[in-house]
Amino acid sequence: MLEQIRIVLVGTSHTGNIGSVARAMKTMGLSNLYLVAPKEQPDGQAYALAAGASDILAKAKIFDSLAPAIADCGLVVGSSARSRTLSWPMLEPRECGIKSVTEAKQHPVALVFGRESSGLSNEELQLCNYHVCINANPEYSSLNLAMAVQLVCYEVRMAWLAQGEQSKTEDEASYPSNAQMESFYQHLEQTLDDTGFIIKQHPGVVMTKLKRLFNRARPEEAEYNILRGILTSVQRFGSAATRLKEK
Ligand code: SAH
Repeated sequence: MLEQIRIVLVGTSHTGNIGSVARAMKTMGLSNLYLVAPKEQPDGQAYALAAGASDILAKAKIFDSLAPAIADCGLVVGSSARSRTLSWPMLEPRECGIKSVTEAKQHPVALVFGRESSGLSNEELQLCNYHVCINANPEYSSLNLAMAVQLVCYEVRMAWLAQGEQSKTEDEASYPSNAQMESFYQHLEQTLDDTGFIIKQHPGVVMTKLKRLFNRARPEEAEYNILRGILTSVQRFGSAATRLKEK
């Protein structure tokens, strides 16, 4: 089950931190490390700090941007030290551990961590279903990257150990993948452009607000299919009306 949970590091500057993350993961039983546009590839410094977890570094997968690194995931949680302009569903680290372990039975899960200098961008945070914030000193709440990973992975491990003791009683619904949701948003934007509700060149905040709404509602697979069907029917209706006008 822990195999289904990946740690994704976005834009890491210090290779030493990448190594420390590998070590933090291995101590908690996690092994899938995804690197998105690291400033430098894992080097000697990374391997030195990974210590006995060099196997995790050696098999880390590298991507140019976040979307393809999480495309197949049904649950994506982004970790952030501060709240942004856009409020998003939040999880405590403990809840994040429980949710990750529960959902890992159904689909891959990604736990995403940001840059040392500037964290995750708003665009990257919007690719996530939830945000997790480690409650820290409000006057200085930014943890070292690997330490944030350690804490979140510890909660995953605690939840995983607790699962062994209880039968599965949790939510078993299946959810669309991140890539499916991104394609739904494109479909929605196209349809709203066709009907004249939005102008694609001047998107404003409508799409962001809609993404937040659908993300909060978190449609299940069957609901997702209904939504796609509705959009297709609106588009068909629109083109039939246009043809009629042309006659
Ligand atoms: N200066 C950055 C913080 C970077 S710390 C900022 O202001 O956003 C590097 C990464 O560690 C963050 O992107 C986040 O993923 C994680 N992190 C650090 N402290 C955290 C906290 N208190 N809660 C959740 N994640 C945290």
